[in-house]
Amino acid sequence: MARVAWRNRDQWPYAWRVLSQGVCDGCALGTTGLRDWTLDGIHLCMVRLELLRLNTMPALDPERLADVSRLEGLSSRDLRELGRIPEPMVRRRGDKGFRVVSWDEACEAAAGAIRATTPERFAVYLTSRGILNEHYYVAQKAARAMGTNHVDNSARLCHAASTVAMKRTLGYGATTCSYRDWIGTDLIVLFGSNIANNQPVTMKYLYEARLRGTKVAVVNTYFEPGLRRYWVPSVPESAIFGTRFADEWFAVDTGGDLAFLCGVLKALVAAGGVDGAFVERATSGFAEARRQMESLGWEGLEKDSGTTRAEMERFAGTIAGARNGILVWSMGLTQHVHGVQTIEALVNVGLARGWVGREKVGLMPIRGHSGVQGGAEVGCAPGLEEPQSTRFAEVWGFPCPAFKGLTAAEMVDAAWRGALDVFWIVGGNFLETLPDPAAAAVAMRRLRTRIHQDVVVTSMMLPPSEETVVLFPATTRYE
Ligand code: SF4
Repeated sequence: MARVAWRNRDQWPYAWRVLSQGVCDGCALGTTGLRDWTLDGIHLCMVRLELLRLNTMPALDPERLADVSRLEGLSSRDLRELGRIPEPMVRRRGDKGFRVVSWDEACEAAAGAIRATTPERFAVYLTSRGILNEHYYVAQKAARAMGTNHVDNSARLCHAASTVAMKRTLGYGATTCSYRDWIGTDLIVLFGSNIANNQPVTMKYLYEARLRGTKVAVVNTYFEPGLRRYWVPSVPESAIFGTRFADEWFAVDTGGDLAFLCGVLKALVAAGGVDGAFVERATSGFAEARRQMESLGWEGLEKDSGTTRAEMERFAGTIAGARNGILVWSMGLTQHVHGVQTIEALVNVGLARGWVGREKVGLMPIRGHSGVQGGAEVGCAPGLEEPQSTRFAEVWGFPCPAFKGLTAAEMVDAAWRGALDVFWIVGGNFLETLPDPAAAAVAMRRLRTRIHQDVVVTSMMLPPSEETVVLFPATTRYE
């Protein structure tokens, strides 16, 4: 914390305003100022403090970008340390790097490139800790006004599977409960999550929950050290000695959660652990799900999950023994080809226990950025379904494009195949978030024009394109 204070020493009054009044840009836990709505006391973590400099740093010297070969090989942290992008910049074919241009010239470079292509060959992608729902809404509206449905946001890379599966099964794409429900529930299960690192203040909630008797189980390929023992700074005893958090660990193979959850539902049915009254009153299709689970053999489930029948039965026993429980999950479950099916299986287990629709129970996808859920909800996703499409067209006064839009990863794939001319990218870095950075870099080169909009320089901005790369400086959320 002393280091953070030192790094922000030139902007302390502003940094203090960001901390004391701003909505945290660190993760989706969500806090305004230094308080939250779950517990009394200070809400602050190092993720937020480390990000503070992004909001207070001075501008970079544009000369540093005049020859980008000097920047190649620098880490993201080093590139960020260069400072903020202060003015619009353009790099034309054959240039070694970027030069500062007027806003008019940069806008014309972007607009000219979009005019020169067709909507089917133009894509827009947004992600950033700083982007707000309003930005996502306006960006997707602008993209559709320009005729393209190729518009997407970073939830694609994390929780799109949750949104789809939850909408299909529950009719609603977000968490069904609040963090307040953690405190006082009987059991919290963390699937494929490492909240100690990624949503640090939740450990404070978990600490409080454990004081009231909540048990914690972990289902993951790896028993994260932060979930075994964690040091909650605001609790003196925990800050000194640490606290044991997880009571149980259920080890599965990578991608094995789907088979694990199917096995758990099968075991739950066999052991009479289903909340029959809830299932009867609030669900449909249970008999079919039950038949399907019963038809699955234990041998196949063991092979696909990477664990044993006994472990699946032990987990089923653990959840059957809890009247109230909350299932929490992250990217360990969603980032697989069968991510949607895995979340559907998880929802089935939750519904079988009746853990929806009352206090101290819930199904909770836990997210990274604070804007990604909203981004998807306000329409920043490829293709609008009816009745939204008609509704938007009425409100906006222009028709929404009819062709099927590309998802984020499909956009990069299309660029790689030469099927896109112009790619407008707000925030993010495909060279660090997609599984094949070399292919992503090739895709970036094959575009005729790339338009980047960001606060700082990233490695994704450095490859040349066929014709032009435009950099627009962005504001932070606090500006
Ligand atoms: S836990 Fe998340 S919302 Fe809370 S301070 Fe840390 S980064 Fe911000």
